[in-house]
Amino acid sequence: MSGDTLPPLRDVIAAHGLTARKSMGQNFLLDLNLTAKIARQAGDVSACDVLEIGPGPGGLTRGLLEAGARHVLAIEKDARCLPVLADIAAAYPDRLTVLEGDALAIDPLAHLTPPIRVAANLPYNVGTELLIRWLTPPDWPPYWQSLTLMFQREVAERIVATPGSKAYGRLALLAQWRSTARIAMSLPPGAFTPPPKVSSAVVHIEALAEPRYPANQKVLERVVAKAFNQRRKMLRAALKGLAPDIEDRLIAAGIAPTDRAETVTLEQFCALARTVEAG
Ligand code: SAM
Repeated sequence: MSGDTLPPLRDVIAAHGLTARKSMGQNFLLDLNLTAKIARQAGDVSACDVLEIGPGPGGLTRGLLEAGARHVLAIEKDARCLPVLADIAAAYPDRLTVLEGDALAIDPLAHLTPPIRVAANLPYNVGTELLIRWLTPPDWPPYWQSLTLMFQREVAERIVATPGSKAYGRLALLAQWRSTARIAMSLPPGAFTPPPKVSSAVVHIEALAEPRYPANQKVLERVVAKAFNQRRKMLRAALKGLAPDIEDRLIAAGIAPTDRAETVTLEQFCALARTVEAG
């Protein structure tokens, strides 16, 4: 069997009785043209190992293998998908490894060789948690070169948001501090089986070699979390208790104490983190 001889995804689903389970966040992509298009958004995967979370019936997995990925490591929680994924592994010898389990509990690094890209139509219930973990590793640059991930449209907008917009906040700052982030594709509910209630979007994130502005990660995270925790408040009130003389520190960072978090740029937040860290 080769990639060409694998059956259409609708037949695979029917043959294996893979009815989508809500509890597993299952909204499948069954159009192989679409999964090929998503795989292309991951960039040149031919020299890369690709980590895929939640392959399900394997539409995106097939797209990544067809795009020439050197090796795909797929982590899937639903054991019902394993026989389907084994058929794909047989069609692409030595290029697909499947681990059964919870992506939040498995460390994939032992199974991956750099350069590494991540691509996934994520289960929405674990998507944001995984993204935050990928964006906040102990060391930078991270093990991954890029993340190509499906999110609810609203979450995608929070990742790429700029100051002054409602969507701007912790996720935008985390994603944009050390990476570039853009919406690569938009998908209507009807692209999925079953269709979810909301629209979706593929976000492509490329890791930068260095942060855009220097800052201590933990301090920056603390400042940003506190600033947006009370986003309607002026920063001199929202950041009270973060450090002594917070008004002076805000001014030193080029921020008016009466500003609100949603107008403060990434550069200003990094400057503030540095003045807070200076003690
Ligand atoms: N990638 C497939 C596609 O595009 O058709 C399936 C996408 S579906 C939105 C999410 C997939 O993630 C399902 O196959 C589900 O079983 C799996 N999943 C859910 N929670 C998971 C977890 N914690 N770890 C790994 N896989 C998980």
